[in-house]
Amino acid sequence: MKVDMRSIYRFEPIPGADPLPSGGDIYYECECGKIVSSVSFIKAACDCGNLSGGQGTVTVQHPEKVKPLRGKLR
Ligand SMILES: [Zn+2]
Repeated sequence: MKVDMRSIYRFEPIPGADPLPSGGDIYYECECGKIVSSVSFIKAACDCGNLSGGQGTVTVQHPEKVKPLRGKLR
């Protein structure tokens, strides 16, 4: 099932985040437009393959294409 994360969470960019932070309220927005949780326990991947997550971690191929966001439940 495809879920639009933006309909569930309100996202705020995290400025100056280098290296990428991770945590329960941290999400990664890829330049392809997809948002993946930084601690995804479900299998998740973005459209371009840059982000692939599951089992509590996310593998980032190209961190420079990723924007970290803080997500708050709406
Ligand atoms: Zn992508």
